[in-house]
Amino acid sequence: MTESPADFIVSEINAGIFMLDRQYRVLLWNRFMAQHSDLDAETVIGRNLFELFPDLPQKWLVKKIDSVFVLKNFAFTSWEQRPYLFRFRHNRPITGGIDYMRQNFTFMPMRNAQGEVEAVVVTLLDATDSAIYQTMMQAAMRKLEESSNRDGLTGVFNRRYIDTRIFDEIQRIGRYQAAPFSVVLLDLDHFKRINDTYGHLAGDEVLREVARRVLPGLREPDVFGRYGGEEFILILPQTDLEGARSAAERIRFAIGAEAIVCGEQHIQVTASLGVASFLPPFSSAAEVTQAADEALYQSKHNGRNRVSVYPAQQSQTG
Ligand code: GH3
Ligand code: MG
Ligand code: MG
Repeated sequence: MTESPADFIVSEINAGIFMLDRQYRVLLWNRFMAQHSDLDAETVIGRNLFELFPDLPQKWLVKKIDSVFVLKNFAFTSWEQRPYLFRFRHNRPITGGIDYMRQNFTFMPMRNAQGEVEAVVVTLLDATDSAIYQTMMQAAMRKLEESSNRDGLTGVFNRRYIDTRIFDEIQRIGRYQAAPFSVVLLDLDHFKRINDTYGHLAGDEVLREVARRVLPGLREPDVFGRYGGEEFILILPQTDLEGARSAAERIRFAIGAEAIVCGEQHIQVTASLGVASFLPPFSSAAEVTQAADEALYQSKHNGRNRVSVYPAQQSQTG
C-alpha cells in the first residue's frame, strides 16, 4: 500500500487519531496512540476498544459515541470536564502535580455515500501543558493571596485581613445566631523607649518575638494579627467576655514572663490589653474595636501591664 499525504499526516501528527465502528471496534490507530498505549495498530485493529482498555469510562463514552452515530454531529470533551480517558504518561519534567496526560477529544462522524454514519473518528489532543500551567497559576495565586493577608515583619495576619475576618464574624452571628465573638487589642508598653534604648532593629525583633509568644497559646479558630505599629489584635470566635479576658491574661503573661533576648540585650517587655465582646447594641466592626480600644486605654491609664474589659469593670493587676 503506497502512502497518501493524508495517511502520512494521520500517522505522523503529534495527536491521537483513531476510528471506531458501531460495535466500538478499532478501525484505525495512529502512531501517537500506539506509542502512548504501548499497543500497536496490528494488535488493536478489529478489537473492541473497551476490551483493550477496561479502565475507560465505558457508559459515558458509549453515550458520547452513540450520540455522534445517531445525531451525525461532532462532539467534544475537554480535560477540564474529564482530565483524561486514556491513562497515558506525559514526559514533562515539571508536572505541577499533574499525573497523567490531560486530554481533549473531538468525535467526528464519518459518513458513507448514503449519508449514513459508518464510523466515528476520534482525535486526542495532549492538553497537559495547559493543565500544568493552570495548576501552577492557581498555586501562585493562592500564595499571593496568602502573603497579601500577612504582615511583612511578624508573619501574623495584617490589618486588612483582620478587618475582613471581623466582618465575617458579624455576618455569621447574624445568620446563625451564633455565640458572640470577642476582640482583644494589645499594645506594647513604652515601646518607644525600647526603640530609643536598644535601637529600631531590636524593636523589630521584639515585635517578632511577641508574635511568636502569643501564637502557641491560641485555639484553632482564633485569628491573631498585627493591627499597626506595636499594636496587635486577636479575634476569639464564640467566646464571651470572661473567656476572652482569661485568654488576654494568658497572653499578657506569655509576653512578659521572660525577658526577650536580643543579641547581648535582655529586654523586658510588657503589654496592655483591652477586651470587648460583640454584643447588642454593637452592630459594626468599628464599634467593637472602638470598645476594645477604650478598655485598652483603661489599662494604660491604670498603670499598664494589665487587662481591662469593656464596659469598665474592676481591672486586674499583674
Ligand atoms: P505606651 O505604653 O503608651 O503604648 O507607649 P509607647 O511608647 O508604646 O507608645 P507610642 O505610641 O508613643 O510609641 C509607639 C512606638 O512604636 C513608636 C514607633 O516608633 C514604634 N513602632 C511602630 N512600629 C514599629 C516597627 O515596625 N518597628 C519598630 N522597631 N518600632 C515601631
Ligand atoms: Mg500604640
Ligand atoms: Mg505602646
